[in-house]
Formats: sequence, C-alpha cells, structure tokens
Amino acid sequence: MDSDVYDVVIVGAGVIGHSIAYQLKGAEPSLSIAVLGDPMNSVMASRAAAGMLAPYCECEQGDSFFRFCRESLDRYPAFIEELTAVSGVGVYLSMAGSLMPASSVGDQWDERLRFFREEKIPHEIWPVSRVRERCPDLAPGCGEVIWVGEGQVNNRQLHDALVAGSGKRGVRIIHQNVTGFQRYSNRIHAAVTDSGEIRGKRFLVAAGSWSQQIGKVLEVSMPLKPIKGQMCRVAVEDGRLDYTLHGLATYVAPWREGNGFVLGSTMEDRGFNPTVEADVIQGLIDRAARLLPCLKDASLIESWSGLRPAAEDLMPIMGASGRYENLYYSTGHYRNGILQTPRQADYMTACLLGILKDPIAEFSPDRYDL
Ligand SMILES: Cc1cc2nc3c(=O)[nH]c(=O)nc-3n(C[C@H](O)[C@H](O)[C@H](O)COP(=O)(O)OP(=O)(O)OC[C@H]3O[C@@H](n4cnc5c(N)ncnc54)[C@H](O)[C@@H]3O)c2cc1C
Repeated sequence: MDSDVYDVVIVGAGVIGHSIAYQLKGAEPSLSIAVLGDPMNSVMASRAAAGMLAPYCECEQGDSFFRFCRESLDRYPAFIEELTAVSGVGVYLSMAGSLMPASSVGDQWDERLRFFREEKIPHEIWPVSRVRERCPDLAPGCGEVIWVGEGQVNNRQLHDALVAGSGKRGVRIIHQNVTGFQRYSNRIHAAVTDSGEIRGKRFLVAAGSWSQQIGKVLEVSMPLKPIKGQMCRVAVEDGRLDYTLHGLATYVAPWREGNGFVLGSTMEDRGFNPTVEADVIQGLIDRAARLLPCLKDASLIESWSGLRPAAEDLMPIMGASGRYENLYYSTGHYRNGILQTPRQADYMTACLLGILKDPIAEFSPDRYDL
C-alpha cells in the first residue's frame, strides 16, 4: 500500500488520463498526482488511432462539439511544442491539411462547401490540374478535391511524450488496474489495485472504453460502450502523399518519418472482442488503393484493432460527478479523442482547479446522472 494521499488520482493511462496529469501538474506543480493503468493494454484507443486531427472533415454542424474540436486543433502546435520540450520525446505533427476527393464526397459536395464557408473553415477547391501537380499519386478517378486546413499527429509518439512528460513533471505513474474503490457515503477514499490501495482526495475516471466498468464498481450506470476499429499500416515512402486523405468509409493517414501510411478503419459494435480479420484488413487496403493506387503493392507492416469509447449520444463525458463529491470524469471521446486531447486537458485542468468558466452542458456527467 502506498502511504501517500494524492491530491488527484487519475484512473486510465491513455492520452486522456496522461494529458490531464501533465497539464494539471504544469498548472499547479504543488499538487501530488498519480496515474493508474496497465501500459500493456493492447487495445487502448490512444495507441490504436490514426492520429487525424480532423474537426472539419468529421463534423457536419457548427455546434458546441465542433467548436471544442476546432479549439483543440488550434491549440495543437503550441501544445506539441511545449510537450516535446518538457518530455524530450519528438512528436510528428503536420498541419498540411486533408483532402476530400470528389469521387468520395459525391452528392454531399455542395453541402460540405456550404458548411466550410458558413463556419469560415480554411479550404480550397483544387481542380484536377492542381491535384495532378500536388499529388500525382492520387487516382485520376478521384476528380477535383477539397483541401481542408486541418492536421495529423503520430498518436503513439503523442502518448509516449505524454507519459514521459507527466513523469518529468513529477506525476507518479502506477502500472496497475483499479479493481475497486474504498468509499464512504458519497466520498471516495482510495482506489483498490492488486498491489494495494491508492488513497486520494479527488479521483478522475479516464479509462476510455473501460470507464463503464469502473462506473459499475461505483454503482453508477454509464451508457458507454467500445466501438472497435480495425486498422493497418503499410510501407510507402514519405512524399507519396503529403496530406491526410478522407475517402468513403476509408482514410489514409501518412505517418511520415519512414513510418508508412495508416489505413482505416472499421466501426464495429462487438464488445471487447479484439480480433483482427485478414479479409477485413485486405478490404481496407483495397478501398484505400482505389484512391491511392500505389497502396495496392505496398507491403503490410502491421494490423491491429482498438476500442473507441462511445457514449450513447456520442458526446464526451467531462466534468464533476453529481453523485460523488470528489469524483470527476473525462471519457467518451469516441472517434476524436486524439484531436480533443489538448483542449480537453485544459478544460479538465480548469475543472479540477475550480476555475472552469464556461462548462459545456452537452458534455456534463449530469446528463446521465453520474
Ligand atoms: C481504430 C481507431 C482509430 C482512431 N482514430 C482517431 C483519429 O484519427 N483521430 C482522433 O482524434 N481519434 C481517433 N480515435 C479515437 C481516440 O483514439 C480515442 O478517443 C482516445 O484515444 C481515447 O483515449 P482514452 O485515454 O480515453 O482511452 P484509451 O486510450 O483506451 O485508454 C484507456 C486507459 O484506461 C486504462 N484502463 C482500463 N481499465 C482500467 C482499470 N480498471 N484501471 C485503470 N486503468 C484502466 C487502459 O489500460 C488505458 O490505459 C481512434 C480510435 C480507434 C480505436
């Protein structure tokens, strides 16, 4: 048993848990913070993602979710600059933008452009001649494309840097899963792990798809489930594509720096089943190769699956619990948790410090009586 009583105990060691620890410790160095979670969790979303920072291609209306994602994209360059300086870990970030080919956008073309114009989203329409000049490897059948000013990060490097950055700032990192809590009435005193209790003044659940199980232990009913994605990475030389490519039920994310291209992804409601199926992976490659023919002959480096934490309304769950006086949540980041990481870390830091000015009602744990 750890004899310390931490000011904040964070349950979950993905990008969400570690970014909050890192940011909170940076804002208030006197706080003692512990992050709990199994680093060998092979289906955690943070290491499975493609790293697209795509609020514009992914969102369709200018609501509070869209604004939050957009603010997070804007925050990215400064966030990564500071994180690499603190952690000493390099993180590949590109703000070169995304491409949406006409062949994939189909009859949504006018609607997409109207949204981009209304929201003043940086975008351009590239005629076929410019597409040939800037991305000669794109299939001629793609037609003209919409270029959108968004980004791409190597999310595994991001996770490595957040873990290192938390550690460098003095966060205690404990490689243990939580199996229970010690609580009395509406107050939590300790998280229970296989190697003892971790006592704390405040607790934060950031356990991605497993947050619902943690909720069960706390006797709250969290409508959140894993949505599995199968993915693969193929060897393609840097420079064959400088942009993230959004197709129909497919995307291509260049990881650059000799890391090849990530191709994604499926959306499967199959519980915690992590199976990776060869025919599904081949389907991903075939679909992506229709946009970028050089992918057809690229050798497969690896394939994997990961679990996106999806709340019933597909919105994140962030803020203070209404049921426990010292419990907080940041989970349910679903398809955009990598994108939301910096803004989410700022939001939760302000929340934990009691200085959050404009809580977002749509994200509140209160909507599920948590
Ligand atoms: C295939 C795929 C592609 C994606 N692509 C993108 C993308 O391009 N862009 C984007 O923005 N987002 C993307 N996402 C979504 C993004 O990855 C997630 O929203 C984000 O990583 C969620 O992070 P998290 O830290 O909440 O969860 P996770 O990364 O899943 O981490 C959860 C953590 O909780 C820990 N844990 C579990 N149980 C316990 C317990 N009992 N006690 C302690 N700890 C526990 C786990 O070990 C893990 O460390 C993708 C996700 C997937 C699966």
